[in-house]
Amino acid sequence: MANPHVTRERIDQEVRAALATTLRIEADTIEMEQSIINDLGATSIDFLDINFRLEQVFGIQLASQLLLDHVEEELGEGTAIDRDNKITAGAAALLKEQFGPDAPIDAGMYADEIPAFVTAGSIATAVEKILDHLADACTCGASEWKSEDGAKVVCGACGAEAVYPDGDELTKGWIHDVQREKQLFAVS
Ligand SMILES: [Zn+2]
Repeated sequence: MANPHVTRERIDQEVRAALATTLRIEADTIEMEQSIINDLGATSIDFLDINFRLEQVFGIQLASQLLLDHVEEELGEGTAIDRDNKITAGAAALLKEQFGPDAPIDAGMYADEIPAFVTAGSIATAVEKILDHLADACTCGASEWKSEDGAKVVCGACGAEAVYPDGDELTKGWIHDVQREKQLFAVS
């Protein structure tokens, strides 16, 4: 279910703002398809900072673990990353589901190369996927969500902030859904 209170435009704007503040660059110069690492010069510490800013703005919890680490945890060691630290065919296929079919990701690439595929746009999509899980009703029973600022959604009856499933939980669920449907990973 989509979240009618927060627009994609607003999400993109906040991602740009978070990147600009963290990386000390101009928000207007950031293109959504730019690689956070290769084009904007982010480090892994910056990722934490960028995520934290977005979590504060939208009242969400982004995934704290990398996708392939989740796969290894959920489906078993070696399913996503082999002994030489290279990604498996299943991992490459799953990453294309995440970053788009045109992403130049192939089996045999080093796992360390994957974070460079994170773009401003893929961060915005991660935020959007969480916000799309707005519950039908608040825990008080009312279905009167509203947003004053276009970012945080609150209950119109009791005033409580909407609570979303966290990014790690959603990622795990998604991995199992894809695996059930496409059997990308050889599970022993
Ligand atoms: Zn309520």
